[in-house]
Amino acid sequence: MNETALKGRKFSGASRAPKTYSTGRTCASKGCDTRLSQYNRREWCYTHAPTKYPRLRGRIVKAEA
Ligand SMILES: [Zn+2]
Repeated sequence: MNETALKGRKFSGASRAPKTYSTGRTCASKGCDTRLSQYNRREWCYTHAPTKYPRLRGRIVKAEA
């Protein structure tokens, strides 16, 4: 019997813990006190987050005025 055949990686529960950010944060936009999710690593709420328009094969996507 070869005992090393069943040797597995030591499971470490801590390495799989989800990354969280401090709770109780609010949107970085002035006058907006929308609470941010602790899983949201951005500084703004979804309304104020800067939108990035992906480049679409040379076409220029105009941002909303
Ligand atoms: Zn906001």
